[in-house]
Amino acid sequence: MGKVYLVGAGPGAADLITLRAARLLEAADVVFHDALVHPDTLAIAAHARLVDVGKRFGRISTEQRFINRALAEAARNHAVVVRLKGGDPMLFGRAQEEIDALAEAGIECEVVPGVTAAVAAAAALRVSLTRRGIARNVAFVTARHGPGEPEAEWLAVARAADTVALYMASGQAAEIAAQLVSAGRAADTPAVLVENASLPGERRLATTLAALRDQPVPRFAGPVLLAVGEVFRDADAEILPIEQARQKTA
Ligand code: SAH
Repeated sequence: MGKVYLVGAGPGAADLITLRAARLLEAADVVFHDALVHPDTLAIAAHARLVDVGKRFGRISTEQRFINRALAEAARNHAVVVRLKGGDPMLFGRAQEEIDALAEAGIECEVVPGVTAAVAAAAALRVSLTRRGIARNVAFVTARHGPGEPEAEWLAVARAADTVALYMASGQAAEIAAQLVSAGRAADTPAVLVENASLPGERRLATTLAALRDQPVPRFAGPVLLAVGEVFRDADAEILPIEQARQKTA
């Protein structure tokens, strides 16, 4: 009987994974990976069979139930099974479903953490998510909710936290900004959008909630982290009005 490792692949750059993750990839017999994992990261798994179970930008993904079953099945036939997830597996990665399913199937499971998108974005911006006198808490938030799930209570948290990191938010950035302002967050609160953090195509845009609400949001091809809070006031980023950035990319 093998073991399943839920491994964080980090935000993108292949050298932003842990040594433990790299060693497991080298030893892996099978790797089930997300769509966004960098090819250079997958290349570390030189001997493994690679199975893409990822979803990308709303395109149909492998059903979670199928992934759970495939992981258990692989562990019955192989010693080292890696489930490789973008960023950290324990944030917005549906890790709990896999952990629970493996426990139910009687299969051993271990988690290897990774660098999550919010901290990769902070590094890219050279802005600390916490700062004495300005920000003493950080919220990891998504406004997304699955079909049949109750509307997430993200707004109250995002309203109250000093620094807010919003995952899977770029498609609804304008609505999110509008809701935050309506909920009482100051319209001139700084907001940043970091696309492809840690990757060659990295882009950093700085704006405010009001501008994000009122101006066209640029199109993004890669994953984007939206972050909001006073700490981003002097962020090292392309300055908006967002309209300028849009023209640059057009
Ligand atoms: N488990 C992952 C998050 C998965 S949800 C983690 O810990 O990072 C996917 C979302 O993560 C994307 O919609 C985007 O908001 C964010 N994301 C992932 N990689 C990113 C990157 N390189 N740059 C910016 N945002 C990223």
